[in-house]
Amino acid sequence: MFAGGDIGNAGYSPTNCADRAALFKAVSEGARRFAAIAIVGGPQGGAPLRATAPCGVCRQALYEFGGPDLVVLMAKNEDEYTASTLGALLPCAFGPADLEAAPDAQNAKHPE
Ligand SMILES: [Zn+2]
Repeated sequence: MFAGGDIGNAGYSPTNCADRAALFKAVSEGARRFAAIAIVGGPQGGAPLRATAPCGVCRQALYEFGGPDLVVLMAKNEDEYTASTLGALLPCAFGPADLEAAPDAQNAKHPE
């Protein structure tokens, strides 16, 4: 289990969500495939007001390592949550298989 927290930035764009912070921590420690992620969010210093879904950027990052079958638990607390899959939250996703199918695109992103 890997935990993460939002990493804010005054410029907003460089801000990193807790979902990706946990994902990147796990990947940096050698994990590559995941069965599920639980997401809980709320106002700073306060209790969550509702279940929190991952943002679009996090969905794309999670797809890279979890694929469409990754279970996403969107929780308000440990008793109130909704379960879904990344495939349902990110239909028609672009992933590693798309790069394998288009070698020219892969070479453009990773020149030797
Ligand atoms: Zn996010």
